[in-house]
Amino acid sequence: MAYDPNNIFAKILRGEIPCNKVYEDEFALAFHDINPQAPVHVLVIPKGEYISMADFTKSAPAELVTGFMRAVGAVADQLGLVEPGYRTLANAGDNAHQEVPHLHIHIFGGAPLGPMLDKRFSG
Ligand code: 5GP
Repeated sequence: MAYDPNNIFAKILRGEIPCNKVYEDEFALAFHDINPQAPVHVLVIPKGEYISMADFTKSAPAELVTGFMRAVGAVADQLGLVEPGYRTLANAGDNAHQEVPHLHIHIFGGAPLGPMLDKRFSG
């Protein structure tokens, strides 16, 4: 699948659509999710045209992979989530209901987050 440059996060990266920014560096942009599913729900996206984690780790320069992952950690730290705890999640493809085809890592926190996955898959 080819990257769609008209996806909503590409537009946010280009400044065509506003976002509630929490962090930015040369590798990544982080902003609050428009429809939060936890008291803290932030999205971190790499600066580049990557659809998923598989695509990103296969195609992105090592400096960008490192910089992006460091940004995820920095955002969790900046938001005060490290000590109380938080969850990161990246949906990819149809089975995971990925809505926006630009790699994004969700950061959830601010309260106990409940089980990791749907109970259907546990005993
Ligand atoms: P996905 O299901 O692709 O992992 O998650 C996409 C996320 O992007 C959803 O949590 C959704 O609420 C968020 N989202 C969709 N459109 C926008 C937008 O225009 N601005 C922001 N800040 N978040 C968005």
